[in-house]
Amino acid sequence: MENLAAVHIGLPLDAYLAQSRERITSQLAELIKIDTVAPNEERAFPLIEKWLDALGMEHYRQEPHPELDIHDDYTPPFVLNNQSPRRNLKARWPHTDKPRLRISIHVDVVPAGKHPQPWSGLVDNERVYGRGSADNKANIIILLEALRLMKQLDLQSAYDIEVDFVTDEEAGGNGALSCTLYPDTADAVLVMECTDLLPYYGHRGCVTFDVTCSGETGHMGCSHGKGLFDHVFDIVTSLKTLSNELNTQALAMEGYQTLGDDARVIQLNINECEAKGWHGTAMEIFRLRCNLGLPPDLNCEEGMKIVEQRLTSAGVDVALTMSGLRNRGYIGKPQGPLLNALTTYSAPALVQQHAPTLWHVSCDARHYEKLNPQEIVIWGVGSLSQAHSNNEYVQIDDMLSGINTLITLLSNHEVRL
Ligand SMILES: [Zn+2]
Repeated sequence: MENLAAVHIGLPLDAYLAQSRERITSQLAELIKIDTVAPNEERAFPLIEKWLDALGMEHYRQEPHPELDIHDDYTPPFVLNNQSPRRNLKARWPHTDKPRLRISIHVDVVPAGKHPQPWSGLVDNERVYGRGSADNKANIIILLEALRLMKQLDLQSAYDIEVDFVTDEEAGGNGALSCTLYPDTADAVLVMECTDLLPYYGHRGCVTFDVTCSGETGHMGCSHGKGLFDHVFDIVTSLKTLSNELNTQALAMEGYQTLGDDARVIQLNINECEAKGWHGTAMEIFRLRCNLGLPPDLNCEEGMKIVEQRLTSAGVDVALTMSGLRNRGYIGKPQGPLLNALTTYSAPALVQQHAPTLWHVSCDARHYEKLNPQEIVIWGVGSLSQAHSNNEYVQIDDMLSGINTLITLLSNHEVRL
């Protein structure tokens, strides 16, 4: 690859990319400055469309699929306070008769939280900072930069490339779901996410649910059997025990075995907690909103059944409702041309020791099964340890490495599906 680049530009690709550093970081900074917290993803589309025009790529904004909100995988708008589904941006590299590669990248970011300069796009010698730098805007930039360099170097693509710039990943995945409901196929799918340039062939799921129970009221100090307050401990303890067991179950799966016994794939989070009762009176209502990770082989309904059984056997009488994220897990094939190529081409020494595994967080990959691809791979620049954090940044050298890998992947004619 370096020789091929050297023929066209008189420089090894790494050296050439190093010269492009400033343009790459300033493009990322420009994108970070646009606040794309859902439902405002479309704010970034004009800038991305300008870059696509410069590449000569066809593009259009695709309306939400008319049957999106009746699909089983649809996430009702609990997370977004009744915001309706939004358009996605679709793009296509000039048509070829090569194998069809669909690339999916989400444009939304999580809210700023306590990030001190979320929309700054601040750049120093090593990093670009801001909300969405790692998750997931650096991936938009490295893909477009790889395509730009391929065009400049006159490198033919080994694939017919179609890109989905999707909305709503962080709030449920309805953007990618909408894209995949349109009748279409793909030979392979690359979902670009902040995986530290390591390829994954599946991911775990998660489900958000409300546990609500009501108790018998009475004056504090009187005996009314087991009160609601005691049940609070039963509920939390049962769910915590369940998450530990599901974690053990996940770690026994083939795609997680290399992580070691101490790894935490499945977690329980409490997102909201509400208790009601008059002062000095026994608690009347108790409600928890929880998010529970699920092993990739359990769907959300199966997960909810297990939660219900667990709470019932703990003697707690509760109402249980799904109330937010319902991300089904996905398990693909641990071998495939795209997965093998990314394992081979990714530069970090780490990847050489890294047998491809299942990702320990959820993403949009699950939706792309509908296109019947031979494989779906999750890969991209940015670190999960930075994603959603209060000091989110991406390493510039990792971006250059990712561009190098993408160019090798997308133009290498030995890579066949
Ligand atoms: Zn992401």
